Amino acid sequence: AAETGGDEKAVVRNYFNTSGFERWKRIYGEQDDVNSVQLDIRQGHAQTVEKTLEILNQSSLKNVTICDAGCGTGSLSIPLAMAGAQVYASDISSAMVDEAAKRASQALKENQPEPKFEARDLESITGRYDTVCCLDVLIHYPQEKAGAMVTHLASLAEKRLILSFAPKTLWYSVLKRIGELFPGPSKATRAYLHAEEDVERALNAAGWVVRKREMTATKFYFSRLLEAVPARSQ
Ligand code: SAM
Repeated sequence: AAETGGDEKAVVRNYFNTSGFERWKRIYGEQDDVNSVQLDIRQGHAQTVEKTLEILNQSSLKNVTICDAGCGTGSLSIPLAMAGAQVYASDISSAMVDEAAKRASQALKENQPEPKFEARDLESITGRYDTVCCLDVLIHYPQEKAGAMVTHLASLAEKRLILSFAPKTLWYSVLKRIGELFPGPSKATRAYLHAEEDVERALNAAGWVVRKREMTATKFYFSRLLEAVPARSQ
């Protein structure tokens, strides 16, 4: 259905509330219930989270406000809360948000601030946060919607914006094409790669500059991570 257009956001929401939820909660978990491809993706994604935490932990996170847009099962929100940050986490999928809240209450100690979890799509997030993070969500946005999404996230952030996405390079485009020749559950939604120049152009147009770039690539997972800050602060 995703291939035929229509309401793509509804397709994504439905997927992450049903089969996608089951698949990704296992990948973003710790149990032994994943195949070798999923294990590779789990490990790759863990590196993206680790690199984000490294950037953010350079100064104390105590009482820092962080918006985790498209929070999934809370892989980033929970360690941020453990470090004392005030986390506002949301996701288009209520199943994801419920799972994240459950994991948070299991993991957090009493003196650690519980993140505020909410089911809402990225476009409807409001407010201002010291930092906005959005990891591996752009893959669900077609090119023509990506710019507006980046602009919106930038408008929510005061000091820092951290974004990760699958970079569109010749090599990854070929790999994606090969992947598409094989049927599988991961093909339930379309995946979009993004040219780094396009993402950076949207950031620059919103008055932000890229301060740090990281890349994570395993066999089946690849993600470019950008840390951006307001141009005036540089
Ligand atoms: N950011 C999390 C992480 O890195 O652990 C989850 C990444 S997962 C690949 C993508 C997530 O984006 C899913 O949980 C999905 O429900 C969410 N998502 C997709 N489109 C969204 C939208 N328009 N607004 C908010 N969340 C969205």
